[in-house]
Amino acid sequence: MTKNASPAPYPGNVGWDTAATNAAVKIKRENVMAFGKFTRAMWEMLPSLATRGCTDPLISLNPARRHTGNFIMSNSDFGLIGLAVMGQNLVLNVESRGFQVSVYNRTTSVMQEFVAAHPDKKIVGEETLEGFVQSLSSPRKIMIMVKAGGPVDAVIESLIPLLDKGDIIIDGGNSLYTDTERRDAYLTEKGLRFIGAGVSGGEEGARKGPSIMPGGPASTWEVMKPIFESIAAQAEGEPCVYHIGPGGAGHYVKMIHNGIEYGDMQLICEAYNIFKAAGFTPDELAQVFTDWNDGDLESYLIQITSKIFAEKDPETGKPLVDLILDTAGQKGTGKWTIMNAVENAVVISTINAAVEARILSSMKDRRVNASKVLKGPKSAISEDKQALVKKVHDALFASKIISYAQGLDLIASMSKEKDWKLDLGKIAAIWRGGCIIRARFLNDITAAYRKDPALDNLMLAPFFTDLLNGFQQNWREVVSLASLAGIPVPAFSASLGYYDSYRSAVLPANLLQAQRDFFGAHTYERTDKPRGEFFHTDWPEVIG
Ligand code: NAP
Repeated sequence: MTKNASPAPYPGNVGWDTAATNAAVKIKRENVMAFGKFTRAMWEMLPSLATRGCTDPLISLNPARRHTGNFIMSNSDFGLIGLAVMGQNLVLNVESRGFQVSVYNRTTSVMQEFVAAHPDKKIVGEETLEGFVQSLSSPRKIMIMVKAGGPVDAVIESLIPLLDKGDIIIDGGNSLYTDTERRDAYLTEKGLRFIGAGVSGGEEGARKGPSIMPGGPASTWEVMKPIFESIAAQAEGEPCVYHIGPGGAGHYVKMIHNGIEYGDMQLICEAYNIFKAAGFTPDELAQVFTDWNDGDLESYLIQITSKIFAEKDPETGKPLVDLILDTAGQKGTGKWTIMNAVENAVVISTINAAVEARILSSMKDRRVNASKVLKGPKSAISEDKQALVKKVHDALFASKIISYAQGLDLIASMSKEKDWKLDLGKIAAIWRGGCIIRARFLNDITAAYRKDPALDNLMLAPFFTDLLNGFQQNWREVVSLASLAGIPVPAFSASLGYYDSYRSAVLPANLLQAQRDFFGAHTYERTDKPRGEFFHTDWPEVIG
């Protein structure tokens, strides 16, 4: 600013506005706090303060580094760091609910393009983290939507020196729940508040209403509640967000949500593989999935699958699905879910099969080589198409119930372990809208847990017991048909295996215990003696 700079005409009752200056201006924080809005006197003081090189505890306003559209700016209600797919859409969602949002992104051009693309929205783009923090009203509410892992720690570290006690950081990415617990403890020590919130719904959900799973202190949730409830999806008149529990509970539940998502997707793919072997065309499959989506299988994933089958490649006119390479990746959440299940001794065989199916799919070259050597039956199913649709429907629905039963069992087990007191009915309720696994039958899961919060396993809720009893014949036939035709159905069969094991009063583990006692003197309990008494047998020696 030059010495002779004069302020722009006082624009009236406005908050922060950089139009008055054309270079960095520094004013005392106390003045700003005291006035809240610029008075005429303050407004006129701005250039002279800057000219005198005011340097005390300061807010620096640098108009060249602040980007806004066609609006006059006051302090923002909410800030978001990380303007990739999820971040941008969440910002638009929050802004559409009447909040002013400040944004920051490591790569400045991404922020500039985003703000420029939305000139009429109350979005304030900041080039510096300092400017971003200063643009927020107190207590600051800052959501981080960057890549999980190191980047989240890096952003938190750079924010800490800029924040005041009581400010709130929300990590909305797919962070590992143990990282969330570590960050929660670390930030609490520094007098800052932290929420680890799982956000599901992908790009469209983030924009129109995701399902949000926040964890952390209940008092912090109360501060965030108005914003989160206004941006979340609605299901049956209820917002798809609630305070899941303390510490890492929110990110934990999001992790299991993603594990279930893996299971759902793999089961649908196995159904598709069976239909392909029976000669269904993508157009026929689009119709099957459309019909299913009108019935009890109604869900986001069934719906998008019907659209995928209908999609034609603009270049060749062929069904696009036939041109997509059959290799899938798997990132953190599926793997973490499996590792946590093993640690908690909970069976999640459907989710496990789904993660492994992705790993096998990624081994394209090895599979192509093996396909030339390893023999199997002809992958063809000759069943009446209409009858097959009904059988696969039943197998898919039954397996899906198992997948959710396993995921919810793991949540219940972890809740006990950590004393989180998680409410499975509420968790199922917030998955009914906005998220990737939203499905009509989540209403029935919600009802089952609301009726019996201590339900031992979803399969034992009368509604689901009846469904499984009704579906099981077709389920078994589909797994048999696929096996006989050499079509891999790892998730269908893992689900059926779980069902049959869980309902077996007697399993062959007696022989297993005998083997363990034979080679390792591990001892065993007997069927004809009370539990807790252990026996050992002097087995014959077999090594001469
Ligand atoms: P992403 O690809 O996971 O992350 C990209 C963002 O992270 C960019 O803004 C990038 O900034 C920033 N970033 C990366 N490293 C950084 C660092 N060291 N310091 C500062 N910023 C850094 O984006 P996303 O797909 O929108 O996902 C965001 C989070 O939400 C992730 O945790 C993701 O797992 C989770 N999530 C994603 C989805 C989805 O459907 N995509 C759904 C639910 C949850 P630059 O522009 O500077 O590179």
